[in-house]
Amino acid sequence: QRKQVPTAEELLQGIIRGDKTALARALTLVESTKKQHQKKANYILDNSLNSGKESIRIGITGVPGVGKSTFIETFGKLLTSLGKKVAVLTIDPTSSLSKGSILGDKTRMEELVRDPNAFIRPSPSGTSLGGVARKTRESIFLCEAAGYNCILVETVGVGQSETAVHSMVDFFLLLKLAGAGDELQGIKRGIMEMADGIAINKADGENLKRAKRAQTEFNRALHLFPPKPSGWIPKVLTCSSLENTGIQEIWEMIDSFFTLVREDGFLEKTRQEQNKKWLLNTLEDRLLTDFYENPGIKKELDRLLIEVAENKISPFKAADQLLERYQKKV
Ligand code: GDP
Repeated sequence: QRKQVPTAEELLQGIIRGDKTALARALTLVESTKKQHQKKANYILDNSLNSGKESIRIGITGVPGVGKSTFIETFGKLLTSLGKKVAVLTIDPTSSLSKGSILGDKTRMEELVRDPNAFIRPSPSGTSLGGVARKTRESIFLCEAAGYNCILVETVGVGQSETAVHSMVDFFLLLKLAGAGDELQGIKRGIMEMADGIAINKADGENLKRAKRAQTEFNRALHLFPPKPSGWIPKVLTCSSLENTGIQEIWEMIDSFFTLVREDGFLEKTRQEQNKKWLLNTLEDRLLTDFYENPGIKKELDRLLIEVAENKISPFKAADQLLERYQKKV
């Protein structure tokens, strides 16, 4: 007996009901590069109603080994114990390169995975950061449509993914370790500057003292940055994700951030800007796909690429020809 593949409408209804399996299937469609999958995914995206207003989006970053998955496990369980529904999404642009992915080969967040009020989605193996970012945006949207009101977007702090995540979330949390010696060495200024909060993890055992010292130093460093447009003053806290200390304080910090930005209208403005940006990005993406997947264009492009290489036609004229042909088609 063959299992029936659910239709886009069935998946949509499943998502609206909060069915995790339907959500997971829809995300697989979002991540797929197959045209018929994308069509289905677009149907679900286009018909999901989601104002995003009820949710909070938190970006979490830090170098491999800093304790991101341990932190998210502890933090996520705190959130679900407070009655929230937590979705964890991961951006790992390295996963397409190293296959085995920095994150992929560990069993991560074992307890949170089993929590009925949590949904964890590992990184799609993206082709490019741009592709991964687009998929993450759409995934956030679908998770919210499925009723998840706390979206945690995790990123591996090794590349430019932080900037992409920063533009999708409301609060940006940087996880750090207390290093030996010069605490501020090797921190990318840009990432520090984006952070709304810094949590110095592994503040336990013999490390506790050093973590406290690092807290003071980071606090001093943060004061050197210009004030945030949100009016929020970034804070530095310490925590132990393993021993579950300081985690509650981190939530209180984030909660007070949201109280502030809800009151001063900053959150609403951010969401408006994000929506505009998401529209423009989606438009670009769909136009490019439509253009390059057009069979007539494909053939013409192949021909013109050769002609351009042989100097038979200028690249500009070739581009004009292609666009003209495209416009006639549509
Ligand atoms: P990720 O690569 O950033 O996701 O880091 P992991 O969460 O996998 O943690 C890396 C290692 O650090 C693991 O062995 C964890 O058990 C350990 N670890 C994570 N958080 C803490 C903590 O708060 N204290 C201590 N002592 N170890 C921790």
